[in-house]
Amino acid sequence: MKALKDSVRHTKEVRFSELPAEGARRHSDSRLPAPRNAVEETSDLYGVQNWGSEYFDVNLAGEVVVKFEATRETPVPLIDIIEQLRQRGVSTPVVLRFPQILDYQIKKLVGAFRSAMQEFAYRRDYIPVYPIKVNQKKEVVQAVLGFGERYNLGLEVGSKAELMIALALTRRRESPIICNGVKDDAYLRLALMGKQLGKTVFVVLESLFELRLLLELSKRLKIRPLIGLRLKLSARGSGKWEKSSGDLSKFGFTTPDLLRCLQLLHQERLIDCLHLLHFHIGSQVTDIKRIKYAVKEAARTYAKLRKLCPNLDYLDVGGGLGLDYDGSRTASESSVNYSVQEYANDIIYSIKEVCDNENVHEPIVITENGRMIAGPHAVLVFNVVNELALTNGPIRVDNIESKPQVIQEMYDLYTGINGKNYREYYHDVLEQRDEMFSLFNLGYLSLEDRGLGQELFWGVCERALKYAKMAKHMPEEFEDVERLLSRKFICNFSVFQSIPDAWAIDQLFPILPIHRLNEIPDRKGYLADLTCDSDGKVDNFIDLRDIKESLELHALNGKPYYLGVFFTGAYQDVMGDYHNLFGHVHDVLVVADGKGSCHITKIIPGHRIEGVLRVFGYEREEMVAEFRQRVAEGVAREGLKPEWGNSLVREYEAALGSYTYLALD
Ligand SMILES: *Cc1c(COP(=O)(O)O)cnc(C)c1O
Repeated sequence: MKALKDSVRHTKEVRFSELPAEGARRHSDSRLPAPRNAVEETSDLYGVQNWGSEYFDVNLAGEVVVKFEATRETPVPLIDIIEQLRQRGVSTPVVLRFPQILDYQIKKLVGAFRSAMQEFAYRRDYIPVYPIKVNQKKEVVQAVLGFGERYNLGLEVGSKAELMIALALTRRRESPIICNGVKDDAYLRLALMGKQLGKTVFVVLESLFELRLLLELSKRLKIRPLIGLRLKLSARGSGKWEKSSGDLSKFGFTTPDLLRCLQLLHQERLIDCLHLLHFHIGSQVTDIKRIKYAVKEAARTYAKLRKLCPNLDYLDVGGGLGLDYDGSRTASESSVNYSVQEYANDIIYSIKEVCDNENVHEPIVITENGRMIAGPHAVLVFNVVNELALTNGPIRVDNIESKPQVIQEMYDLYTGINGKNYREYYHDVLEQRDEMFSLFNLGYLSLEDRGLGQELFWGVCERALKYAKMAKHMPEEFEDVERLLSRKFICNFSVFQSIPDAWAIDQLFPILPIHRLNEIPDRKGYLADLTCDSDGKVDNFIDLRDIKESLELHALNGKPYYLGVFFTGAYQDVMGDYHNLFGHVHDVLVVADGKGSCHITKIIPGHRIEGVLRVFGYEREEMVAEFRQRVAEGVAREGLKPEWGNSLVREYEAALGSYTYLALD
């Protein structure tokens, strides 16, 4: 946080225009239903009030605003931030990061546990731990540590590299460092040295093999470790990660191994080094029941072990607290059927109940919630570059009698289709199209005929779809037609770099235009990114009851049109890759000062072309030298002017310093 505050001081003050503070949907208390305006209608369409209520809303000007305590007076339109960035030469795609949202999420989590502990007369502490793999960006980790300091927030790490961040950045000795993941000698040495420095570093063992390594090392270094054991529970998560939990999970001790482990610890007189039990049933657990079962099982194990292990004092219940991406509050994959308070209540109540029943002292509770803390604080914004559609209004054909028979028949279908015959005509046009392609391949049709035939085919499809949609139940075959005719919005970003989970695991995020929401969007389509791959697209969108295959969007009007992808702060920032060499996007920190102003406190530039080239082993100097050589060869061969060749090299050099995304907004 210190870094944040420093940069606030050093950055030029930016005041965002003070637009109406009222949320669009907060109409007066009058009994009469208020007339719906366009802003209400569009924010309903994108479900803003369902998923965004805490941090995002739409103002009367139809712009998405960010709002939290420090901006309550004047919620800040995201489009204003984008405009400010443009003036500073920072173009989209860009990630807008609101570190204060991290603070609110941490407060909410800790608040929920504190009130649960009060309610159930729980006599021990709660400590939040942030799993660093969820977002390892320095700005994020520093902000989380800064905001969490007053709660002794710690870090969970799963590798040597992550542990090295934790050892350097955690300041309080009370802040735990939980070492998970598969470990080698070097990993364990780092952890033991941290312990020796007086830090609370728990080595959470996953197997007997690791235990043996640790025992040997601690003997050699004469450092008594703080040992944690990861349990393999029979309870399973729910949602996308269900399969990696329960007996199938990669990590953790089964009960027989747990007993062997205790035996070994006894033998080595290290049983008093066992301090913590840990489990993790997966991320985005959608159903609260699963969490309850898992906690009960782990608490029971804790209580039994506590009687044998005098220093066992911590129960770490892992992560899994999900976010309501679609706002439906259900156990569907993109949602959760519980609140943060319910989550805390169920954990505390279950542990308390088991401990009372077993007559043992309650443990200090640790959670490792990453998605919940980091998810909401970041928004990806990109511009729409172009819009592609197969059909473009009515088709006019002059001189239809002069066209080949097959084209004439398609034209008849196109003009004659109606609400009664549309299915039949649709089937007919499928046949005619095949016929047309055969004739073309045999050389009987011109390229013009083929072009007209295709247009007529899509035209018939479009009209048939219109009638199909008017029917009570749309016949299933028209779902394909709808997909075929779906518009494609070409967007200036890479799914693989910026929202990899949309591709890898079909995760849904709230996506919508961040402005123009005072106009009803009049078209629908899916989003195609800049990568060549046919997978580089987003064609699943949140919906309260279902998943939408296309998104309602506005027609491009010659001005930049920006879409926002919300809740991208967990996992997305750090799991992306360089498909087609699209690099990291610009990263911008925005902080509100509580007086109605927002400040861009830091701009971390995204990759330049030379940056991504270097990732793959191409050094700038080498590339320029090689290119200069090619230019010299070309100039000599084609008899070009040497000055022209030089300017070409200069342009190449300049391009190496440019952003990897399109400069088209
Ligand atoms: C990934 C992971 C977490 C974080 O889970 P979230 O669902 O993001 O809170 C916590 N603990 C462990 C061991 C993990 O592997």
